[in-house]
Amino acid sequence: MTFKDLGLIDPLLKAIGDKNYTNPSPIQEKSIPLILQGFDILASAQTGTGKTAGFAIPMIQILTRGNNSGRKEIKALILTPTRELAAQVLEDVQSYSKYVNIRSTVIFGGVNQNPQVAALKQGVDILVATPGRLMDLHQQGHLSLKNLEFMVLDEADRMLDMGFLRDIKKIIQMMPQKRQNLLFSATFSKEIKKLANGLLTDPKIVEATPENSTAERIDQAVYRVDAKRKTELITKLIWEGNWHQVLIFTRTKHGANRLAQKLEKAKITAAAIHGNKSQSARTKALANFKSGEVSVLVATDIAARGLDIPLLPYVINYELPNVPEDYVHRIGRTGRAGASGIAMSLVCSEEQEYLTSIEKLLGMQIQSGVVEGFEPTKGPVEGGKKRMKQNARGSSNLSQNKKSNNKRYHRFKRKSKKPNK
Ligand code: AMP
Repeated sequence: MTFKDLGLIDPLLKAIGDKNYTNPSPIQEKSIPLILQGFDILASAQTGTGKTAGFAIPMIQILTRGNNSGRKEIKALILTPTRELAAQVLEDVQSYSKYVNIRSTVIFGGVNQNPQVAALKQGVDILVATPGRLMDLHQQGHLSLKNLEFMVLDEADRMLDMGFLRDIKKIIQMMPQKRQNLLFSATFSKEIKKLANGLLTDPKIVEATPENSTAERIDQAVYRVDAKRKTELITKLIWEGNWHQVLIFTRTKHGANRLAQKLEKAKITAAAIHGNKSQSARTKALANFKSGEVSVLVATDIAARGLDIPLLPYVINYELPNVPEDYVHRIGRTGRAGASGIAMSLVCSEEQEYLTSIEKLLGMQIQSGVVEGFEPTKGPVEGGKKRMKQNARGSSNLSQNKKSNNKRYHRFKRKSKKPNK
C-alpha cells in the first residue's frame, strides 16, 4: 500500500515525499480513506504510530477541495492536552499543507496572547489549540467556531486526566451541530466511551496497533536498586555507555529539577522540563535536547506528552509511574516510527506494586537484574505503596536479608548496550 493508493492529491503526496515517508503506517492506511469518505472516527492510537498524519492529511485534502472561495475562517479545530503537543501538531500540519492554500496556527496558554490574536486576525483554516486558551480567546471575541467542519480531539484520555472535560463540553457548544469528528485516545476508559458516545455519529473504529505492541520494538529492562542510589547508578550508566539523547522520567517536578542539577554536577549536560517551567524555558530545553546540545532531558509525565523526538534511543524511568498506562506512554517515546529503542526502569523495593501493575497491563514480565556494585539491600516489597508512605514519614522498618534477595536477580552484563536502528 502506498500513499498514492489512498487517493491523495499530488500536493499532499509531494509534501509527504519531502518528509521521506515511504509507506503509510497501519493507522494511516485505515484512517485516511475513512476520513476522506466523511466518517466520524474513534481511534485507539498512541503517539509514535503516525496518528497525526493519519488525521491531518485527509483533513487537509477535504479542506482544500472546499476552499475555492479562499475565505479564511476556522474550519478545523484540533484540541490537544498540552502546549508541546499543540506545537508539534501545528508543525506537522504545516509540513503537510505546504503545497496547498491552507493556513494554520496554534494557540496555547503560558505565553503572551497578542501574537496569537494577530495570527487569528489574518484568518486561518486550521486551528490547533489547548482548551484553556481557546476558551479565553473565544470569550474575548477573537475567534469563532461557527463555520467549523472538523473537530479533532487528540489524546482525549489525557485531556480527561487533566480535567478538561467541562471545557471540552463548553467548546462543543460553540460549534455547529453538523461536522466531522475525530477522536484519538491511547486508552479507553468508561469516561472516554461516554464522551465518544455524546460526540461522534456512527463512528468507524480504528485501531492503530494492538494494545502495547510498542513493547515488541522496545527492549525493556528493570534495574533493581535502592532508592537512594538511583542517581549514582543513572550517572554511571550514562557515563559508561556514552549515551546521548536520554529521556528520563521522574514522578515530581521537584525530582526532575534535582536530578537535572545532579547530572550537571556530574558533567552530564541535562535540562528539566515540567509544568512549573515557563513556556519559553520548556521550548528552549526541548530545542537544546533535539539539537544534541543537551544529552539528557528530565521530564514529568504531563510535560512529556506530545514530545516528538524522532529516533529517541533511550528512555529511563527514574521512578515508575503510579498509573500503569503512563508507563506505556513513557516507553512509547522510544522505538518510534518503526525504529527500536531501549527503555529501562530503576526500581527500588518499595515500587514493587507499581511494577506488578505495569507487568499485568503489558501481559508480560520485564527482564529484571542488578548492576554490579548496586545490589539492592532490600528485596521487592509487596504492599510497597503503603510502605513508601510510611517511609516518607520515617516510620517503616524494612529489614531483609541482602544475600538471599540478590539471588533473585540476574546480573546485567551489557553495560552500554546501544539500540539497533
Ligand atoms: P505521531 O504518532 O503522529 O506522533 O508520529 C510519530 C512520528 O512518526 C513522527 O515523527 C512522524 O513524523 C513520523 N511518521 C508519521 N507517519 C509516518 C510514515 N508514514 N512513515 C514514517 N514516519 C512517519
